[in-house]
Amino acid sequence: MKDCCLESARSFFVSNYPLSGNEADDHLAARLVDLCKKWGPITSRLADGFYIRCTNSLRLGVDAKTAGIQCTCGGYVPFIFIGSRLFYFIWRINMVCLTYWGAPNSNGAGVISFEGSSDWPKEEHLRQVGLAIEMYFGQSPLLSTQGLEELNKLIAASQPTAAVMHTNIVDLAELFVLFHEIQHQLPLSKLAAQPPPYRLDLANFPELPPARASRWTDELTHDANAVFLLLESVASVLATHHGMAHDDARTQAAILVCTGADAALHTLQLLEEMRHGRVSVAEAASARPFKYHPPSLERRNLLSVYAYSLITEKDADALRRREFTPIWKSVAGNVAGHMRVRDTLFERYKAWRK
Ligand SMILES: [Zn+2]
Ligand SMILES: [Zn+2]
Repeated sequence: MKDCCLESARSFFVSNYPLSGNEADDHLAARLVDLCKKWGPITSRLADGFYIRCTNSLRLGVDAKTAGIQCTCGGYVPFIFIGSRLFYFIWRINMVCLTYWGAPNSNGAGVISFEGSSDWPKEEHLRQVGLAIEMYFGQSPLLSTQGLEELNKLIAASQPTAAVMHTNIVDLAELFVLFHEIQHQLPLSKLAAQPPPYRLDLANFPELPPARASRWTDELTHDANAVFLLLESVASVLATHHGMAHDDARTQAAILVCTGADAALHTLQLLEEMRHGRVSVAEAASARPFKYHPPSLERRNLLSVYAYSLITEKDADALRRREFTPIWKSVAGNVAGHMRVRDTLFERYKAWRK
């Protein structure tokens, strides 16, 4: 990107979000770009083409915005701006989930599993959830660091292998959000990658007005494509840099990417349901908050059907017939394990805050 184009993008960002540009926001944006480099050739190549910034500005809130600006030199700069509050929220919730895991057990054949603690979550963990929610919904222009030191202590005392796992999950959750946004600008069909057939069956949403159907289709397609691209990229890193055999690399990549994507959408679902309650797809078809995207629960369900097809190369009917391959069992088992921990945390939090 040329200097003049970078400068144009920077002044556009600053004029839109006058209070932003603090160190924490810049650190977050730099971290996203680093994550793209860390997780492979596709992710780093795509991130390079974008001007990426994070901001805690209430103008952006917990949303993301992507479009492009024209520089005076004639160059076009696509940008992605992401609300920092969203990322902090995802990070905090999933790091609290880390505290659930205890010491690993090995079955002697190289398979390691973790035991969770039975008296979890404790009040200190629920307090962290409360702080995360306050940060997300809060209206203060500056984000507080309340509870951060305690959380860092909890993380430092956590089980090291589980900590690596959760760090990777948060990486992939954040990349999933970023890649969804990238898809708004640079859909898979415009990339060299071969798009897998992904068709949303609109017959499942008979009540949807056409304009909303088209926006929902875009959202769901971007979710699916983000997972596809991340899986390809992460698998190549595991094969190239960690010497994994092709199939093992794909299985591990699928576990990381699917767990990360679900962690992002599940945390969004929590917030959405706190605000609007659980809304069925039929209700969401005409409800105002769902003008641009379907309920998060539906996004998660459809994404898991897509992931099944991507990983097993079988169709959705095969999933209904429960034709589970060993790889799928492993992926779905991991996703479900983390999902249960988050569910427990959310349920206990709701009961605790009453
Ligand atoms: Zn320029
Ligand atoms: Zn979107």
